Amino acid sequence: MIYQYWDEKMETLPRPELEAYQLRQLKAVVSYALKTPFYRERLGGAGIRRADDVKSLEDLKRVPFTTKHDLRDGFPYGFLSIPQEEVVRLHASSGTTGAPTTIYFNKEDIARWTNFVARCIYGTGCNRADVFQNMISYGLFTGGLGFHQGGEAVGMLVIPSGTGNTSRQFRLMRDFGVTVLHATPSFLLYLESMMREEGVLRESLKLKKAFAGAEPYSEDTRRRIEELLKIDVYNSYGLSEMNGPGVAFECQRKDGLHLWEDGYIPEIVDPDSLEPLPDGEIGELVLTCLCREASPMLRYRTRDLSAFYTEPCACGRTHRRIRRITGRTDDMLIINGVNVFPSQIEEVIMAIKEVGNNYLIVVEKEGVLDRLTVKTEVGPSIFMDDARPLNALKERIRKTIQASITINPRVELHQPGALPVSEGKAKRVQDDRPRDV
Ligand code: ADP
Ligand code: ZN
Repeated sequence: MIYQYWDEKMETLPRPELEAYQLRQLKAVVSYALKTPFYRERLGGAGIRRADDVKSLEDLKRVPFTTKHDLRDGFPYGFLSIPQEEVVRLHASSGTTGAPTTIYFNKEDIARWTNFVARCIYGTGCNRADVFQNMISYGLFTGGLGFHQGGEAVGMLVIPSGTGNTSRQFRLMRDFGVTVLHATPSFLLYLESMMREEGVLRESLKLKKAFAGAEPYSEDTRRRIEELLKIDVYNSYGLSEMNGPGVAFECQRKDGLHLWEDGYIPEIVDPDSLEPLPDGEIGELVLTCLCREASPMLRYRTRDLSAFYTEPCACGRTHRRIRRITGRTDDMLIINGVNVFPSQIEEVIMAIKEVGNNYLIVVEKEGVLDRLTVKTEVGPSIFMDDARPLNALKERIRKTIQASITINPRVELHQPGALPVSEGKAKRVQDDRPRDV
């Protein structure tokens, strides 16, 4: 296989040179961070009062972690490190887990971010001949403009379609011969259900690839989307605190996501002890942004769970790979004392062919106990009025889930399209238990 590099020199930079580059960038970023009261204090406590006090990458380890709380406390301008006249853009996180946080960019920050997204897109084999439909929300969320800019930088024809309205999405795909999509994995699954409903023929479309991210999904879900839509799906990871998309992305081998270490310093730590974990072990991803001046972010606790790959990738890129994000530390449900990640449930149900494209996990209190109900849609081959196969399927789903998480769930089957869909990040868990118990 011939791999396509956007910036061959940087993408294949030998580790010693990559680390030397990181140190230079880190010093530059620290000089900006020192302009904010928050980091002046934090860095001062770690003995860093000038950028030159950073002598090696190891010195970063002395700096305390930055958390989402810190960002909220600093709202709105606490993390701004340049005069406001030099800021050209702001973005905010989606606020999945609380109040949104704001990130600022100057012109060069936007250019650097764009370049990382272009690197991701081009690395999957896209080029200027592609037509790219960006089916994700534009606006404060970074996914829309982030991919838009990256797509234009690659030279693709970019259609800023945004989310929703599947009939219009299909029309755009057909009219303009769209070859590449970007969406959340849940929207891609929904799109496929709607394709059947609206009678859109796959042969009438020229689709080849999709970038899917912004929410966790399993390998089985990827496979499902690839088989149903007959496209190549690439996992895309990013977060607004680190600019947005373009932090880590799969290359054509689709085996782990290359985290661009000339833009970010990654660490994986134990979420409880905050001690570094050996490569290969799953923990919380901590990131330092090396490519933004306007809002420095040092050792930011993403709360996302991942692990480093230990082997280099056959594509020749020297930037380390991380495992697909399985969820966030705060996604974890405690059901009758058992720790359960929603991704564990997703993984097993999406592997069952008869299960449809949407599901919802509901947790309630029943007396003193917690009750887990898993609602799934059924696939198009299942008839809702034929009780026997339906019950058999229900039983199979129940047993598979129980085998995986040890909890015996209630299973409900629903018609395709019956469960709620969201246009942005899917909401998969409904926890109805009283908060103060
Ligand atoms: P919010 O924290 O409000 O959701 P963002 O809009 O910045 O803020 O979303 C970033 C988060 O989305 C990440 O921290 C991660 O939890 C999730 N995410 C993004 N891409 C992926 C992906 N490919 N796989 C799993 N989770 C992802
Ligand atoms: Zn690779």
